[in-house]
Amino acid sequence: MRISRVATLAAVAALSLSVAACGGDSDGGSGTAPESKSFAAGTTMEKLNKAGKITIGTKFDQPGFGLKGLDNKPAGFDVEIAKIIAEELGIPESGVSYVETPSAVREEVLEQGKADIVVATYTINDKRKERIDFAGPYYVAGQHIMVRADDSSITGPDSFKAGGKKVCSVQGSTPATNIEKYLADKVSQLVVFDVYQKCVDALASKQVDAVTTDNVILTGFIAKNEGKYKLAGEKFTEEPYGIGVKKGDTAFRDFINDTLEKIYTDGRYATAWKDTAGKFDSAVPTGPAINRY
Ligand code: GLU
Repeated sequence: MRISRVATLAAVAALSLSVAACGGDSDGGSGTAPESKSFAAGTTMEKLNKAGKITIGTKFDQPGFGLKGLDNKPAGFDVEIAKIIAEELGIPESGVSYVETPSAVREEVLEQGKADIVVATYTINDKRKERIDFAGPYYVAGQHIMVRADDSSITGPDSFKAGGKKVCSVQGSTPATNIEKYLADKVSQLVVFDVYQKCVDALASKQVDAVTTDNVILTGFIAKNEGKYKLAGEKFTEEPYGIGVKKGDTAFRDFINDTLEKIYTDGRYATAWKDTAGKFDSAVPTGPAINRY
């Protein structure tokens, strides 16, 4: 009896040792990468692949695109796109980590190397390109306005021109800047927070009359809070979403652009949408033309 128990324990110990050996990623060689890939020496792709690790900057409070769940991990379309890039780099799922990246800190997070890529409802524009580079676009959103479901006094951005009504957006976002030209008085009418959930809370408690940002972000909040909010009017800008990388890393940007083009046709882009934002908006988008500037 005793002997067999000892033997069993020894077998378990041997098994866990061998599992640990397989799972080890520190001494290179036999990692757990789904597929072994090789990349040109000195590239970011090679560095990330060899490390078996990537840090992704994304949102943690945006339903459908990047929302942190009970498992403490963000989920959404942006997160799925980021995971596919990790997969193409040969990085196992266990090597993927996330850093919350609110709108105002996206450039800084890349510049400081706190994230390897930022996939965060991130509009490509020239001002941002002075500090970082963008792969993509992989989606085109548009700025819109969300109000409480029982409010019919706001019908679009022009409704702010008379003054009085307050609108909330996020610091460092394009919608916070774009809405300014529709306001009679910026100081009293524009409220900015660091993340969109705080704007939604302010709308619920009637501290503001509207929230403005991209349509898909607002649609996510509308779906999550059934019956409480609605969109007002039409979208009034174009927001092409890019994947932020460190400025000047052209090889990495090319690699991400190639990956996007590949997933537009192999089904992974459509699946990523259907599993996430597609729950609120069933029309699968057509992957927009990549801008290899
Ligand atoms: N796409 C816009 C931006 O990049 C708004 C969404 C956001 O703040 O993440 O500023």
